[in-house]
Amino acid sequence: MKNYSFINAPTLPDALDALDRLREKAWLVAGGTNVMVFIRAGKRDGTTLVNIRDITALSGISEKDGIVTIGAGTTISAIASSDILKESAPGLYAVANQFADPTTRNSATIGGNVANGTAGGDMLPSLLVLDAIAHVESKADGRREIPLSEIFTGPGKTSIASNEILTHLTFRATRHIGAIKLGARKSMSIAIATVAAYVEMKDDTIASCRIALGAVSATPGRARNAEAAVTGRKLDNDTFDLLAVALQKDMSPRDPSVRSTASYRRSVVPVLVKRAMMLAATGECM
Ligand SMILES: Cc1cc2nc3c(=O)[nH]c(=O)nc-3n(C[C@H](O)[C@H](O)[C@H](O)COP(=O)(O)OP(=O)(O)OC[C@H]3O[C@@H](n4cnc5c(N)ncnc54)[C@H](O)[C@@H]3O)c2cc1C
Repeated sequence: MKNYSFINAPTLPDALDALDRLREKAWLVAGGTNVMVFIRAGKRDGTTLVNIRDITALSGISEKDGIVTIGAGTTISAIASSDILKESAPGLYAVANQFADPTTRNSATIGGNVANGTAGGDMLPSLLVLDAIAHVESKADGRREIPLSEIFTGPGKTSIASNEILTHLTFRATRHIGAIKLGARKSMSIAIATVAAYVEMKDDTIASCRIALGAVSATPGRARNAEAAVTGRKLDNDTFDLLAVALQKDMSPRDPSVRSTASYRRSVVPVLVKRAMMLAATGECM
């Protein structure tokens, strides 16, 4: 470990105070599974780690009046074993069960996944199609809400300000979400692609559809061309042919990349999205 200081923040006001005081010199640490990797690489030398892991107010999963709330400090393990999420956001639940390995899941938090903001964050496509809202708070400016669709501003960058803490995420409960992670192995693998879809059918027509892609562009994001191509159509092979074409405009995979060629990603993503849409339409992701 190089030149870092450490502060333990047992409560949210303690953490907000520390951020307000230290500004850019503070670096929040929740599960530490990203932060420790950066520290070992000597990044952000000279900063003060502000530990928010023990803040109980930041963790927990609840549902009230059809709105699901997940505290930012909730671990991926808790999500992967949540009966609430199995019913009310089965895609998010399914992907949590494919995240890393059990040990990493016990430390890693959903807030860290969002705030780290990398293209391959497994939880992000599901949160995007759930139209989740990120609730953030700072000592100076109080609380504000950021739609997930506006939070990822660049590779590893978000619109969460340096004096803000992500406190929780909210979204409307639905069974109509499907999500699939493709990795080189079933566990301990960073995604080649993660996709999610929300599909609402009216009779035999796609009335509403949201699709999101991870690990195939610089940031995770909605596949707006694909959404427009399938909405109002039947869930059939003609629609999936249009989907495959439209999706090509929604991704810009790096080439070369460590985990996959761009051409493989371009070929496999339409297959994954088709499957995610079928799971979403039938509500059978879990
Ligand atoms: C072995 C290993 C395997 C992994 N496998 C996967 C995988 O399969 N899928 C995947 O998506 N990721 C994976 N990761 C990456 C990492 O585990 C996830 O991104 C995880 O969700 C980060 O959560 P954390 O609580 O550990 O974040 P931390 O490392 O504590 O923090 C990450 C970043 O978020 C900020 N932050 C944390 N909490 C908040 C908050 N409440 N408000 C504002 N900012 C905050 C921190 O300041 C930091 O910049 C893996 C990492 C390791 C080491």
